[in-house]
Amino acid sequence: MTKVIMDATAMQRALTRITYEIIEQNRGLENLVIIGIETRGAYLAKRIAQQIEQLEGSKLPVTNLDITNYRDDRPNTDSTNSARIKIPITGKNIVLVDDVLYTGRTIRAALDAIMDSGRPQKISLAVLIDRGHRELPIRPDFVGKNIPTSHEESIKVMVNEVDQQDQVRLNQV
Ligand code: 5GP
Ligand code: MG
Repeated sequence: MTKVIMDATAMQRALTRITYEIIEQNRGLENLVIIGIETRGAYLAKRIAQQIEQLEGSKLPVTNLDITNYRDDRPNTDSTNSARIKIPITGKNIVLVDDVLYTGRTIRAALDAIMDSGRPQKISLAVLIDRGHRELPIRPDFVGKNIPTSHEESIKVMVNEVDQQDQVRLNQV
């Protein structure tokens, strides 16, 4: 069974609220860098950066991170660590953006990749959906919506840029 838990309006509202919270907690914005986790986190990161630019007039550096080869619980198909950040991050205030937070292993891997690439001053985490079930001491700083799930359930995040619509669904068993 599938249930729509966020429509386009709810999704855009949540992203706008997260944007305001990021601005509020990062007065000045000078050192802010937005990093989106591929695939859908990258689109959300781009949107947040665009909204910050519209609201504050500051164009922020935005980049993507692909951590598929960095996870500790998946076979490493690529012996070279491809998860490198392509922009300078030392001394920066990073906001990591992902669509769904679950066990926390993806974020742990992203933190590894970031630390391998430089020494940021601060890293915070923004997610559209927190579905619970953390296996590591990782918590988001900015959350669109908390959706308590069972392990068997899953969340489908759809974004206009690749899915031709904005919507979040819960696939129930
Ligand atoms: P974690 O590493 O925290 O277990 O899982 C988070 C990563 O896996 C995120 O990058 C997210 O895209 C993906 N993920 C985990 N659970 C779900 C889910 O229910 N729905 C979607 N769309 N992605 C998920
Ligand atoms: Mg993902």
